[in-house]
Amino acid sequence: MHDYDLLVIGSGPGGQKAAIAAAKLDRRVAVVERPAMLGGVCVNTGTIPSKTLREAILYLTGVDQREIYGQSYQVKDEITIADLTARTTHVVTRENDVVRSQLTRNRVAIIPGTAKFTGPHEVEVDDGGGRLRRVTADNIVIATGTRPARPDSVAFDDKTIIDSDGIIHLERVPRSMVVAGAGVIGIEYASMFAALGTKVTVVERRDRMLEFCDEEVVEALKFHLRDLAVTFRFGETVASVESHPEGAIALLRSGKKIPADTVLYSAGRQGMTGELGLDAAGLAADDRGRIPVDEFFRTQVPHIYAVGDVIGFPALAATSMEQGRLAAHHAFGEPARATDVPQPIGIYSIPEISFVGRTEDQLTEACVPFEVGVSRYRELARGQIVGDSYGVLKLLVSPENRKLLGVHVFGTGATELVHIGQAVMGCGGTIDYLVDAVFNYPTLAESYKVAALDATNKMRAVTRMSG
Ligand SMILES: Cc1cc2nc3c(=O)[nH]c(=O)nc-3n(C[C@H](O)[C@H](O)[C@H](O)COP(=O)(O)OP(=O)(O)OC[C@H]3O[C@@H](n4cnc5c(N)ncnc54)[C@H](O)[C@@H]3O)c2cc1C
Repeated sequence: MHDYDLLVIGSGPGGQKAAIAAAKLDRRVAVVERPAMLGGVCVNTGTIPSKTLREAILYLTGVDQREIYGQSYQVKDEITIADLTARTTHVVTRENDVVRSQLTRNRVAIIPGTAKFTGPHEVEVDDGGGRLRRVTADNIVIATGTRPARPDSVAFDDKTIIDSDGIIHLERVPRSMVVAGAGVIGIEYASMFAALGTKVTVVERRDRMLEFCDEEVVEALKFHLRDLAVTFRFGETVASVESHPEGAIALLRSGKKIPADTVLYSAGRQGMTGELGLDAAGLAADDRGRIPVDEFFRTQVPHIYAVGDVIGFPALAATSMEQGRLAAHHAFGEPARATDVPQPIGIYSIPEISFVGRTEDQLTEACVPFEVGVSRYRELARGQIVGDSYGVLKLLVSPENRKLLGVHVFGTGATELVHIGQAVMGCGGTIDYLVDAVFNYPTLAESYKVAALDATNKMRAVTRMSG
């Protein structure tokens, strides 16, 4: 008999939910986690610290209140790193505690250390203090996540040349910053530092950014970021970075040199599989460290599952949680159904972006006809009250059956608001529900009704003309 029914490697969102789901099914469960990383990348270096930092920046800079109180409005004159880290430390500590309490309350054993396979049912846990412990289990879930990719051409020194993990260790707010890579993480940090007054240059090798988002929304974001003095260098590559006592110089392949206090490299992430000894379990990862799985999150060794960022796209906290739950249920024969409702994407830039469903470009390419219903926050009473004149909600509607094909939101509360659209889509509702519904007033949620009416009026115009 093995020590546990389920052993989970990694305590991020995927690992946690796999462990708790198995514990709720009365299984004997343990989670192995490296020291000081309980809660995973999500709690310690990724989602939670970055979103808390954003909240601290929004509050202290007052950037989202300037339409009302003027361009120079700021809650605190000189914002220091200590001001920002105070809030992140507070939240991360609390979240660590929540994770620990949820696991222990559910009788999940927490084994501190780094796990490595020594066989298909066995791992060796190194506690970092010279002690090794062997643990066996009937089923194993790999939820080891990712780490920032570090290209060899860049001499990271974790002070001036950093990756996204280095943000939380910055000693001062940089006056200037080069962000290499305009992916979600790069753009989120670019907008946070721009709001703090840092002069940010974003270098991106492709000629556009966030190409999976609505193009108009991305244009609106670029406009806002330029307004915060962000410079974009699209179609450019950082060839190397020189470290100097007073900062660093990013050398672009085109020959440009950009000096900055800090260079943030945000060039993708690599699966944390290097230390796992996968071959001892009969497994292998791809060149980006990712583990292939089937629809039930089973690897090619049927009792070993992999969930979360280590399996690749979409690499989000919420999807990782759901994958963990589904994997545990599958392992113990508990019926579980993966939802076919489209999942939302949230980008916590300043202003924020969120969407669910398809974009105009995707629909056009697939020759799916659609009508657009738009609501602008500046025409909503709540938009005026909160001082957001740029926010917009856009509904993409099928003229054939009036169902929602996509919802795209830019501005205050976007990542919350999107779920109304997701619920309507998930329940197979039409925009008639949104037209008929009475929303609280004054709210930003009211934008759904306004946009639904807009789409309805446009579709009516087509029907009228075509008799
Ligand atoms: C800066 C940043 C911002 C982000 N913002 C968002 C956001 O706003 N919204 C969102 O949905 N997602 C966001 N993400 C992504 C999100 O954090 C991940 O999708 C999520 O954390 C993945 O969960 P996971 O279960 O794969 O485990 P992870 O959170 O990646 O944790 C994996 C854990 O496994 C442990 N581990 C690795 N190897 C071993 C080993 N051999 N033995 C023991 N333990 C091991 C690691 O120590 C780590 O704690 C962000 C990520 C970053 C980096």
